[in-house]
Amino acid sequence: NENIRIAIAGHGNLGRGVEAAIGNNPDMRLVGVYSRRAPDQIKPRHAETPVYAMEQLPEDTDKIDVLILCGGSKEDLPRQGPELAALFNTVDSFDTHARIPEYFAEVDPVARANNRTALVATGWDPGLFSLNRALGEALLPDGATYTFWGDGLSQGHSDALRRVAGVAGAVQYTRPAQEAISQVLAGERPELTAQKMHKRECFVVLEDGADAEEVRTAIVTMPHYFDGYDTTVNFISAEELARDHQAMVHGGFVIRSGNTSPDTTQVMEYGLKLGSNPEFTASVLVACARAVHRMNALGQVGAKTIYDVPLGLLSRRSPEELRAQLL
Ligand code: NAP
Repeated sequence: NENIRIAIAGHGNLGRGVEAAIGNNPDMRLVGVYSRRAPDQIKPRHAETPVYAMEQLPEDTDKIDVLILCGGSKEDLPRQGPELAALFNTVDSFDTHARIPEYFAEVDPVARANNRTALVATGWDPGLFSLNRALGEALLPDGATYTFWGDGLSQGHSDALRRVAGVAGAVQYTRPAQEAISQVLAGERPELTAQKMHKRECFVVLEDGADAEEVRTAIVTMPHYFDGYDTTVNFISAEELARDHQAMVHGGFVIRSGNTSPDTTQVMEYGLKLGSNPEFTASVLVACARAVHRMNALGQVGAKTIYDVPLGLLSRRSPEELRAQLL
């Protein structure tokens, strides 16, 4: 059996994570990193990883089995996804939930016309959490599904903090509200809003001379981001920010609670506690690349989502091994 030849398009946090994840999968080999930036500006995680210009990709179609797209969901993937699905089998982690149907519709005809398989919007959310939402609903039709996020570093909210006048640096953690989790786990099926399910904790470094109370008020009243949430603001030093808040932690839970008969409550819970969001997401993308390679060999072309992937195809084990060892 030949190793599956993987390449990475775009070298940010996720691209670096994919480099690491491939090292944990002996049935795979990394062909290289392709970037829009000049190759000499890219510092791969492993010095021996080859780096190429993105324009090189069309010439390397016969060297790559699956291309993992690691561009951003906002600006990069809407362009790169459909373009590259004409040339390669692809996997991406497009995560703008509301736009997934639109994105799928852009990628599907291109992949289909070129006999490529393009797995879109995978990772952990969308991805593993999506699977668990569907599973919970299918098994417990009389029930309710809850998705809690955290403890996690939110890039968008951290950026919003840094734009507040008087803030020199900041990070924001989203934490699930314990009271809400307890209610859900007790099978109470509470009506919850995102604001009731999550708390926001901010760690802020003030600019010289900035007024802490003014900054705190500006933060907790910021519309859309913090207004309506239980928000805590902690002021710390630049050294503390650099020392204690660099890891991109994340995670969360999907909980389905339901009834199988009027007096019988059932609760399904799936949780993730991630030391590094991009490294874990990359691990999901790499397992999905294995499935995509196999699905393409089976003639299953076009855009796909995690709902179209048979679970066994993610595994390095053969169907026989899966039956004997994990079933
Ligand atoms: P990122 O670090 O911002 O990288 C995105 C792209 O920006 C890279 O592919 C890279 O492209 C370019 N880039 C990176 N560093 C750069 C720099 N220093 N200067 C100029 N350009 C740079 O984003 P990320 O953290 O890897 O996340 C990528 C996407 O993953 C996110 O947009 C998010 O949607 C998605 N995501 C999904 C899940 C999920 O569960 N589904 C979880 C986490 C993240 P070039 O190399 O071509 O320049």
